[in-house]
Amino acid sequence: MFNKILIANRGEIAVRIIRACRELGIQTVAVYSDIDRNALHVDLADQAVCIGPARARESYLHTENIISATVLTGAEAIHPGFGFLAENSKFAEMCRECRITFIGPDPEVLEMMGNKAKARQMMIKAGVTVVPGADGVLEDFDQALRAAEQIGYPVMLKASAGGGGRGIRIVGSAEELKKAYETARNEAKAAFNDDSMYMEKYLEEPRHIEFQILADHHGKVIHLGERDCSIQRRNQKVIEEAPSTILTPELRKKMGEAAVRAAKAVGYKNAGTVEFLVDKSGSFYFMEMNTRIQVEHPVTELVTRIDLVQEQIKIASGQELAIEQEDIQIKGHALECRINAESPTLGFRPSPGKANILLWPGGNGVRLDSALYNGYEIPPTYDSMLAKLITHGRDRTEALNKMRRALDEFIIEGIDTNIEFLFQILDNDKFIKGEIDTSFIAKEFNLR
Ligand code: ADP
Ligand code: ADP
Ligand code: MG
Repeated sequence: MFNKILIANRGEIAVRIIRACRELGIQTVAVYSDIDRNALHVDLADQAVCIGPARARESYLHTENIISATVLTGAEAIHPGFGFLAENSKFAEMCRECRITFIGPDPEVLEMMGNKAKARQMMIKAGVTVVPGADGVLEDFDQALRAAEQIGYPVMLKASAGGGGRGIRIVGSAEELKKAYETARNEAKAAFNDDSMYMEKYLEEPRHIEFQILADHHGKVIHLGERDCSIQRRNQKVIEEAPSTILTPELRKKMGEAAVRAAKAVGYKNAGTVEFLVDKSGSFYFMEMNTRIQVEHPVTELVTRIDLVQEQIKIASGQELAIEQEDIQIKGHALECRINAESPTLGFRPSPGKANILLWPGGNGVRLDSALYNGYEIPPTYDSMLAKLITHGRDRTEALNKMRRALDEFIIEGIDTNIEFLFQILDNDKFIKGEIDTSFIAKEFNLR
């Protein structure tokens, strides 16, 4: 087992990883940018190293500085969290060259699954059904036009290097395609420095259902059931839950097996997630694989009682998975709400500033993952997610009641948050009945 791990991230996920290390008796090194000097992860870690100015490119994405901090502090492994360098194959390669363990899959796998057009082709070979669409990257506009004719409108144009819901366009007709093709490419170029695009059939009102995978270095791959992440705004998740209200034990088994097959086909190691879209008839289609820990991992932890971050660390250290597929039993129901510093009444504009916490939620069945503390000055530079509130009940109704109760207790002043908006979702009749799909927020709240 490692003696010391460096956490190449910030915010709640850095805190989450430090907590896992503590419980395993592992020393931690935090890295931080100038503006994060007073951040909670810096305080909680055993050691902390400043790696540059606020701009992520010069700090949290600055690979040389992070490698130097690792070598200087004598850390043996790096946990990348999510976002930033988590899916960066060049960084994982640098770690390998410096004999530092990257807590995640091999660079080759990051490379392959990070290119979503290539990942599609891999999955077709592995016998996993993908969303109908064009194979491979679109060479030019003419090819895009031909592909769209063949697939049939509406289609979805997607950035091959995309993530976080960006670089995606729905296209309803050939007339719309020209403009969409150019704008999506520009967005992808700006966000991911890669403008290659691919195309899928646009599925109407599907569910987003993803499977959590654990794979060790000895060939064992298991799944830990699903998360339903259909409550999204602009293709970004807002509320997640486990289990999904639409999965029968038969469908869960089939999808779980497909997810394990997907992971095995690429020689996957560590924790990962296979994302599917499920249509009204219960047919499911591979969408992408996220090669890292995910934001919404706590809902799986609550229903399986397995600590996914600890498992990531144990796997990276070479240990064999001590859990069998048969051991995985889904108990009760868990919900997660992402609490953001943003103003829903101002088009969800970010709302940084000093947060005064008057009351924290707590009590039976309530978990709060956050890097907030009273008086914390939220910087404008990074993601606006402040906290994840997660509840667990014997069934969905109990988890939902606990979520309403806990959200009601949470009193944050000084900044705007989406807490009221979350209440409106939780009180929606269709949501309560579990009648949800990825267009739920757009339809029910008339938002685009
Ligand atoms: P999850 O499925 O874990 O919720 P998200 O897509 O919400 O994943 O992404 C989690 C975090 O990682 C967000 O902060 C998001 O902006 C960031 N992220 C995801 N993919 C990328 C990417 N390819 N490049 C940069 N940031 C990304
Ligand atoms: P990202 O890497 O940004 O997470 P995904 O490929 O996972 O991108 O897609 C993000 C979201 O966009 C999905 O959760 C889903 O709501 C929507 N989406 C993606 N592809 C399709 C599709 N072919 N049809 C309908 N919705 C889609
Ligand atoms: Mg996704």
